[in-house]
Amino acid sequence: MVGRMSSEDSRTIPTQIQQSGSRALSIRWGDDVESVFDVRALRLACACAVCVDEWTGEYKLDPAAVPEDVHPIQITSVGRYAIGIGWSDGHDTGIYSFERLRSLADRDPSGLG
Ligand SMILES: [Zn+2]
Repeated sequence: MVGRMSSEDSRTIPTQIQQSGSRALSIRWGDDVESVFDVRALRLACACAVCVDEWTGEYKLDPAAVPEDVHPIQITSVGRYAIGIGWSDGHDTGIYSFERLRSLADRDPSGLG
């Protein structure tokens, strides 16, 4: 990760991150692809230690406990590789690496929903 940037790297480097409306987060990537995420799906995809058991990988978050209108209230950059999202339901320990976001987007180009 030192020095030159290959095209492979630019795939996972956002050039723009913005909320579009209250339900969507759009990310434009270095290779000029734009991904639009449903924000609640992102909340459900949280992989922090509170939502997923660190040791067993067991999914601990109950989707029914996440409000339908959950949305980010704060988005912070974490180093150069990730964003942290503070959510309206009070959850703020989630970190989403750009690589993970890109792979989520690539798996389902229409979003996560
Ligand atoms: Zn979490």
